[in-house]
Amino acid sequence: MKDNKGIIAKKEENISDWYEQVCLKSNLVEFAVVKGTMVIKPKGYAIWEKIQDYFNEKINKPLGVENAYFPLFIPESFFKKEAEHAEGFSPEVAWLDKSLTKEGERLAIRPTSETIMYDSYSKWIRSYRDLPLKMNQWCNIVRWETNTTKLFLRSREFLWQEGHCVYETEKECEKDTLKVIESYKKLVEDLLAIPVLIGRKTEKEKFAGAKHTYSIEAFMPDGKALQCGTSHNLGQGFAKSFGISFLGRDEKKHLPWQNSWGISTRLIGGMVMTHSDDKGLVLPPKVAKNKVVIIPILFENTKEKVLKKSKEIFKTLKSFNPILDDSEEYSPGYKFSEYELQGIPIRIEIGPKDLEKNEVVIVRRDTKEKTISKVKNTKNTLTKILKKMQEDLFKRAKEEMYSKIVEAKNFKEFEKAVKDKKIIYLNWCNEKSCEEDIKEKTGASSRCIPLGSEKQKVDGNCPMCGKPAKVKIYFSKSY
Ligand SMILES: [Zn+2]
Repeated sequence: MKDNKGIIAKKEENISDWYEQVCLKSNLVEFAVVKGTMVIKPKGYAIWEKIQDYFNEKINKPLGVENAYFPLFIPESFFKKEAEHAEGFSPEVAWLDKSLTKEGERLAIRPTSETIMYDSYSKWIRSYRDLPLKMNQWCNIVRWETNTTKLFLRSREFLWQEGHCVYETEKECEKDTLKVIESYKKLVEDLLAIPVLIGRKTEKEKFAGAKHTYSIEAFMPDGKALQCGTSHNLGQGFAKSFGISFLGRDEKKHLPWQNSWGISTRLIGGMVMTHSDDKGLVLPPKVAKNKVVIIPILFENTKEKVLKKSKEIFKTLKSFNPILDDSEEYSPGYKFSEYELQGIPIRIEIGPKDLEKNEVVIVRRDTKEKTISKVKNTKNTLTKILKKMQEDLFKRAKEEMYSKIVEAKNFKEFEKAVKDKKIIYLNWCNEKSCEEDIKEKTGASSRCIPLGSEKQKVDGNCPMCGKPAKVKIYFSKSY
């Protein structure tokens, strides 16, 4: 079985095996020596770089956020400063033994950087003139998962960005917290073509130490939610614990308001799972390193002519970072499947008969749809097809997501919907006890309270406790 290069598992039948095979065989990533860690290969890393470029340009810049870097090691005493935060993270922090430090203090490998950054912030912020302070860092994070790990989606070490901002007023803080989650939605939908629901986390699911948390939630083909990004309004709790204060315009001492927000390499996993199929990887064109592969169809007596023309076309398509596969060891059919597995968005077939008519055949990876194009129009045709493919991938995924949303009026309906792998929309009392009850009985957890719905009047009762509902909410199983 190992020698078989294609994907053996079926997405419909065994999504877990299928997903792993697609990630590995399409050369995005491989398993590393330590359980729960991975090697992100150049093709996978190129996707992360696209995310970084988009983020730096379209999120950081408009918000006035600057990139910086803070250390990997965090003293234990920093964690203890914010009790809720410390408690929330304690099960998954990896510690260095205290015998390693002169100070005799244990050091944590960062699971998130609030504590170490805010220690610096407490030294930097003196007056309202130092605010707002807006910083982001790109780094790796370690969370020592004891659960099953999964490439990209749940790993012990992953890459992410974490933005940490400090404001003079609550209003500015909340405005940016929301702006970020909306920008995340745009990034994930525009670039990765993954549709998401946007909302607020419940008290139970919010970030440890935050006032409230917003999230974007994607839904994978197996009905499980994938939290794709979060933005936390931290209120003044961290400022208090870390001694961050400023002299206000009134010459009095004030506590500032803070937020933090992040997206990670798990987005790559979500993208693979959303779009790929039984033939292998399907990449949204915007993140594909090589957007086109050119495969000349070679026969003995026309070989030279076809190769010459293929090379000419290859040169005109430089902006698509094309691959020209003119090797003769493998048949065109073999190459077709190989590049389908690799997720190259477009294949161009160039054969002697096509050239007689001055044409090439263009094939889309996702739909296998063929387009005949005049050689001279290739570039334009490609631009159009790639744009359409990006749009179609999003559209298809969006239709699929909405087709999975069902309403549940009572527990029986809820239970059935979980079994049917649906996303459940329901009236909710907003009590932690009901949430724990549901989790225990069905394995589903709350995803988010849709933005704006809090202000709407909610009719109906909570299906668990029967009390009048306070909000509308989404529930599902999750990664
Ligand atoms: Zn209830």
